[in-house]
Amino acid sequence: MIRIGSGHDTHRLVEGRPLILGGIPISHSKGLYGHSDADVVLHALTDALLGAMGLGDIGDHFPDTDPQWKNANSQLFLADTLSKLQRAGGRLLNLDVTLFAQEPKLGPVKGVIRENLAKLLNLDPRLVNVKAKTGEKVGHIGRGEAIGCHVVVLIEQDAPNSE
Ligand code: MG
Repeated sequence: MIRIGSGHDTHRLVEGRPLILGGIPISHSKGLYGHSDADVVLHALTDALLGAMGLGDIGDHFPDTDPQWKNANSQLFLADTLSKLQRAGGRLLNLDVTLFAQEPKLGPVKGVIRENLAKLLNLDPRLVNVKAKTGEKVGHIGRGEAIGCHVVVLIEQDAPNSE
């Protein structure tokens, strides 16, 4: 059975935090605020995978009230979710990632993010797409107050996940 999943995340940009997108540190004067490392790409991707499996959302599995996830590397959330997919006999077919950021300009780094996502997912990079949009200078993203990410995944899984 082919199943689709969609994930979305937004985090605030603040001074004094590193900016990490898709597991890649990005050079910028601000970073994303959050309980974990606030990697919007990996959060949206994890949510999309959970959605495709019918397993709720990232907050159900990794609550931000849990101290063990304080400043956590979001690759842990992705790896745990991928192992759920594997245990259910499923596999990720492809994904499409859209980043929304007025600043910094992400066009120059989207290729590096794509390569890293392919590595983290053990997928051919041609099955991973990363797009970068600005906020057209309107709204919280356009004012440079936040970065957002939307991810769509397609998975193949014979039986619904029983976890
Ligand atoms: Mg998040």
